[in-house]
Amino acid sequence: MKAIFDDRQWKHDPKHFMANGTQKANPEQPRRIEVLQNGAKEAGCMFLAPADHGLGPIAALHSPEYLVFLKTIHERWSRIENASDEVIPNVHPDRRTASYPRSAVGQAGYHQADTACPIAAGTWDAAYWSAQSTIEGADLMLAGEQSAYVLSRPPGHHAFADLAGGFCFLNNSGIAAEHLLKAGKRPAILDIDVHHGNGTQGIFYERGDVLTISIHADPSRFYPFFWGHNHERGEGHGRGANLNLPLERGTGDDQYLKTLDTAFDRIQAFGTDIVVVALGLDAYEKDPLKGLAITTPGFARIGAAIAGLGLPVLFVQEGGYLSEELGQNLTSVLTGLQNV
Ligand code: ZN
Repeated sequence: MKAIFDDRQWKHDPKHFMANGTQKANPEQPRRIEVLQNGAKEAGCMFLAPADHGLGPIAALHSPEYLVFLKTIHERWSRIENASDEVIPNVHPDRRTASYPRSAVGQAGYHQADTACPIAAGTWDAAYWSAQSTIEGADLMLAGEQSAYVLSRPPGHHAFADLAGGFCFLNNSGIAAEHLLKAGKRPAILDIDVHHGNGTQGIFYERGDVLTISIHADPSRFYPFFWGHNHERGEGHGRGANLNLPLERGTGDDQYLKTLDTAFDRIQAFGTDIVVVALGLDAYEKDPLKGLAITTPGFARIGAAIAGLGLPVLFVQEGGYLSEELGQNLTSVLTGLQNV
């Protein structure tokens, strides 16, 4: 299987993170890259670097206002006296239709949903190349590959069209799906990260041309809290093209596999011809952001079940944080898919 990664993705090294009101080390550390690279290589992946596909495929989903913000905010923030090294918001509008301020502090509050997406000097470059890796992956699929793995880090599924959040800046899975759609494909996004893919849902919520499905820990008591509930089915043209499958905290392999079958029924009913798997590995039983209890062999079963769809599969990396087995869990999913 081919895999894609660009060295500029190392440049994002976030420090700030808050959990339960306490400052902690940010779990989305660059060291994940090395671990995930090794895990992918163990599954037989050959890494290549992406070409620069430009801003077009990114701006197809993200507003130009937001892209200017991501590119320039760190420099503007740095001019504030005694400003922190990272851009971290401290005030938010209560709705998206509120006025758009000129102030760097105000814009940070507008475009950053939470404090888990700090922006430093290298963030834009890393997010840009993470997206370019994903576009390259989509192009490989269009060229006839049956599967490919994108080490898209920083991840993307919590990013909306004009809003960063939860370690995410550009919605890589969505960018891949949109790119495939424009090339004549009928893509479904299957998000198996332990957190609901709220950004992805938000981007496609009123559209019926990309199916979005997310299996995740019940957001009633888990990030991202405000999205990911059963009743969110899409609106307008998108009604019925968004499926949320929340699971109780601590759900294990067997129940998870049953839930995947429900997702597969919907994927087939959509006439899907390519699946973008938003591949979070944080449903793992020992992941530091613990929500579900998937085992390492469980990840192989998930990979094998996805292969059973008989469709081309593009894996786009989302979450999954440092634990002893992070690399092995990636190896498990990818070999599970390939060994069917
Ligand atoms: Zn996650």
